[in-house]
Amino acid sequence: ELILAIETSCDETSVAVIRGGKEIISNLVSSQIETHRQFGGVVPEIASRKHVEVITLMMEAAVKEAGIKLQDLSAVAVTQGPGLVGALLVGIVAAKSLAMALDIPLIGTHHIAGHIYANNLISDIVYPSLALVVSGGHTELVLLEREGEFRMIGRTRDDAVGEAYDKVARALNFPYPGGPHVDRLAQQSAEVRELPRAWLEADSYDFSFSGLKSAVLAVINQIRMKGEELNTAALARGFQESVIDVLVTKALRAVKEFGARQLLLCGGVAANGGLRAVLQARCEESGIPLLIPPLSLCTDNAAMIGAAAHLKWIRGEFTNLDMKADPGLPLEDWSVGRVNI
Ligand code: ATP
Ligand code: MG
Ligand code: FE
Repeated sequence: ELILAIETSCDETSVAVIRGGKEIISNLVSSQIETHRQFGGVVPEIASRKHVEVITLMMEAAVKEAGIKLQDLSAVAVTQGPGLVGALLVGIVAAKSLAMALDIPLIGTHHIAGHIYANNLISDIVYPSLALVVSGGHTELVLLEREGEFRMIGRTRDDAVGEAYDKVARALNFPYPGGPHVDRLAQQSAEVRELPRAWLEADSYDFSFSGLKSAVLAVINQIRMKGEELNTAALARGFQESVIDVLVTKALRAVKEFGARQLLLCGGVAANGGLRAVLQARCEESGIPLLIPPLSLCTDNAAMIGAAAHLKWIRGEFTNLDMKADPGLPLEDWSVGRVNI
């Protein structure tokens, strides 16, 4: 089957055509990052307006690049949530219109299921599998006992990891989004400014990054007040090591506890060089197969939405045309076999 997928949950407008849930025929992404940079973050109103400006062109371009006719499409998939409600709506209206015009099924899709199933575009996910989701808005450990069945075993109680990176970066005067800058600085530093790790309760798979972020800000303020020179690289490295230590340790512990046959890394923070290196080394040591999609499939894209939508397509689980954007859509509720969300 051929699924046309649309992703507009945040600041990327993306349209893809996917065959059989596995093969990317086209996957176009238009980023608004330059527009939002001047505001130091994504401005929801502007994001919606930008999506409106380009969505039709992106759909036409994705179909053209795929070299298919609209009549060849089997279904239209679109991110239903989570995300910015106004941004989601633009993709949803476009998807509904196309599904209606072509008289083909609509598949409302979960954004994080998409991030996880990006891994299925590069290799076959084997079950049970454990996903470590690290992005701008999410930090989660998700157990997939079977295909399309999502069980949240841990999540952040405050900041998402990408969000913590961006806040630390802002305090160090880097432009938005600052995650990559902090990563680069950390990897360059020979020195480490040690910072605390938030392990939470001994058996918890939850995360917390706001305390760490505050610790970084406190160090910056103290040093500035004393008029001393701040070793920003050592601080960035201390922050990064604390984040990575907790993420990797909890992910590996969960793999063992739940007998996962594979660890899947996904989300935009999967671009983090330090995280990739440590995760690769520790998984190798422990004999855990690790999948990490290429960067273009880790950041927001519609191919991953098509890959997740395929789970519903093969089961005939379609979405009503009166579907609404759901900014807080729970991942578990989107598992296969649930009725009409
Ligand atoms: P969500 O999927 O949760 O809605 P999002 O899709 O907006 O969030 P992504 O696009 O997946 O988030 O990721 C963007 C985040 O990743 C930003 O916070 C950015 O700073 C962070 N990021 C990107 N590269 C790196 C890096 N090398 N190191 C750390 N963080 C990074
Ligand atoms: Mg983004
Ligand atoms: Fe995302």
